[in-house]
Amino acid sequence: MSDGTRIVLVGKQGAGKGTQAARLAACYEVPHVATGNMFRDAVRRGRELAGEVRRYLEVGELVPDDLVIRVVEQRLDEPDARDGFVLDGFPRTRPQAEALDAVIERRGGLGAVVNLDVPDGVAIQRLSGRRVCRACGTNYHVDRPPRDDWSCDACGGEVVQRDDDTAEAIARRLAAYENDTVPLLGYYEARGLLVAVDGTGTPDEVFARMVAALDRASR
Ligand code: AMP
Repeated sequence: MSDGTRIVLVGKQGAGKGTQAARLAACYEVPHVATGNMFRDAVRRGRELAGEVRRYLEVGELVPDDLVIRVVEQRLDEPDARDGFVLDGFPRTRPQAEALDAVIERRGGLGAVVNLDVPDGVAIQRLSGRRVCRACGTNYHVDRPPRDDWSCDACGGEVVQRDDDTAEAIARRLAAYENDTVPLLGYYEARGLLVAVDGTGTPDEVFARMVAALDRASR
């Protein structure tokens, strides 16, 4: 599925984007580009970007478009992303979607935009129990912890609760999703790119559903 390797995952916080994007990227052997992970990593390492993005992350507000767009453009220009990518958490606003179109127009455009859909109640239940590896961003849940206490199965990093997985920040992030990101669904649907996937159930069930839906869409 040559077109399908340029995939975007959208869905509210807690829909399972991080988990499913990582699996999809491994399956298609393309990088998993997650803006949230990139920002958290910058803050943790005290990179140049840290000062600019920290306060947005802490309260659960969107980082300004021009900054996010710059970071993603640079990332998609790296050699490993030239033949494809799975984008997770970007675009989240109309200006971001338009910037993405401009960047990849020369590469043939997007293959598909997966909309992982879960009810708010499921999202809140997942987010409040979510734990994440500080080092590589792999997601866990208190009901599905890593094998070895709280060190990551993938890299051995420390597995912790995210600062923005508090009730207040979750509410703010879900509201931002409704206001800024839901309108993007129509933008992609009008171009025949949107693939709706039911995001409820286990990670294995959702992954199987998503791959089947992408296969159908690429025929
Ligand atoms: P996530 O891990 O995708 O939930 O992102 C965590 C936080 O990073 C968000 O609450 C925002 O503050 C910021 N962020 C990530 N991606 C974007 C984006 N595309 N646009 C604006 N802010 C973003």
